Amino acid sequence: QAKLSGKNQYAFYTEAMKIDTHALIEAENDLVLALERNEFEVYFQPQFNLHTDEIFAAEALVRWNHPEKGLVFPNDFIPIAESTGKIVDLGYWVLENSIAYLAQRKKEKRPDITLHINLAAAQLADPHFVSLVENLLEKYQVPAHLVGFEVTETSILKDVVLAKKMLQCLQDMGVCISIDDFGTGYSSLSQLKNLPVNMLKIDRSFVTDLEHNPDDSKIVEAIIAMAHKLNVKVLAEGIETRAQWRTLEAFQCDFGQGYYVSKPIPAKEFNLGKPLIHSDP
Ligand code: C2E
Ligand code: MG
Ligand code: MG
Ligand code: MG
Repeated sequence: QAKLSGKNQYAFYTEAMKIDTHALIEAENDLVLALERNEFEVYFQPQFNLHTDEIFAAEALVRWNHPEKGLVFPNDFIPIAESTGKIVDLGYWVLENSIAYLAQRKKEKRPDITLHINLAAAQLADPHFVSLVENLLEKYQVPAHLVGFEVTETSILKDVVLAKKMLQCLQDMGVCISIDDFGTGYSSLSQLKNLPVNMLKIDRSFVTDLEHNPDDSKIVEAIIAMAHKLNVKVLAEGIETRAQWRTLEAFQCDFGQGYYVSKPIPAKEFNLGKPLIHSDP
């Protein structure tokens, strides 16, 4: 049996791992090229007020228009971007393009909308991140309140002290801070009160079965009630049916997002005001 350290370490360098390393380097090169060739695109998924039906914001979700593979979804490249460190460049690209989109909307006199952008752990750990954001807002003349960041419990817990400082700076600027995929990580509601957080996003896994799983519905109702006591807004992810919407509205959930209203769509379609709330009762 090979030991984890010491002389026997070489035992772990198997043929398979060589191939893995090779594949990873190749995948990293692909990402670098894709950035240079501008093959990424930011899609937008509307986020709406469950009580007024109004679209108040959108989540920015990156897509890869691959020359051979066609449209590639984040689950197929974000993990690679994270393990190669390229997520920092890609994340910056998404951030700049999202802010540029907001500036474009302003120029075209479209109504203000807030964009919520996903942040990777590596971005949250970058001590320059806050000034990068400030510089982009200045460059594009976009007010901070039109930008929000979505961070997961897991990436905050990697370095709570640093994350807390960063998020506090961003929140002080007027940026909205959301906890993404809430309920799937290891943080508890009690940790929330120590973090600068404006909104919780209840993970889709609790919403899918909401009407049929009494445990899920109790958890969701409790999360909403507790969050509100702590002055934190709640958004439910992955709403696919009118019934889920109704239930969440009855639980006093503030906001929602999901295929029921719209899938993530390219800026062009988003500008047409395409994301329409279903009109069926
Ligand atoms: P997320 O941030 O939790 O985003 C929500 C995901 O759920 C999106 O998948 C969205 O398309 C999908 N979704 C929304 N509504 C529904 C629904 O009603 N039903 C179902 N089945 N799915 C729904 P997407 O776009 O494939 O993104 C997956 C994940 O990739 C995101 O999860 C996020 O963690 C990550 N990601 C996407 N864009 C970025 C980015 O720019 N930076 C970073 N760091 N991560 C990103
Ligand atoms: Mg998100
Ligand atoms: Mg999520
Ligand atoms: Mg998710």
